[in-house]
Amino acid sequence: MSGEEALLEALNSTPVVDGVPRDLWRDGPALSQWAARHGGGGGPAEREWLRKTRDALQTVVRGASGPEILAAFLAGVRKVPRWSGDRLDWVLEVEAERRLAVELILAWARIQEESPGRLRPCANSDCRLFLVDHSRANTARWCSMRTCGNRLKARRHHERRRRAGGAAAPGGTGARPDRSS
Ligand SMILES: [Zn+2]
Repeated sequence: MSGEEALLEALNSTPVVDGVPRDLWRDGPALSQWAARHGGGGGPAEREWLRKTRDALQTVVRGASGPEILAAFLAGVRKVPRWSGDRLDWVLEVEAERRLAVELILAWARIQEESPGRLRPCANSDCRLFLVDHSRANTARWCSMRTCGNRLKARRHHERRRRAGGAAAPGGTGARPDRSS
């Protein structure tokens, strides 16, 4: 599997839909399909590993825990050399039901090493998605400019106007997230 793509799919499996946090992986069949698409078997033990690993990775990427909490998921995992023709491959040695979960952590580790600081949560605090910033300037803040970026820009514009206008808008000053959709 493409490590980064699979990792982002996993991290972004708990979106906020119409203001309500959802877990797309709570649904067994949906997660089984995801696992199958990435070469897994999709059985209950594998799903359990995937959910727990995803939860831990989300906590780490949000900065709520240090990466050491990931160590437990790697216990007993080995990489062993194997020749295919004249090429040396390093092959994961781990129970089948843990393989995908371990690969997610290895994908996370690769991004940390090759693109440090590029994997981060969306800057919209109402959004629970993550992004990998591939821009040269490393200034991307939103999971999507089309959704979160525009929404936040509109909200800031609204707040600036409200402050500049002095009088409170009808309905009081309680800062409610706008539900434009
Ligand atoms: Zn977002």
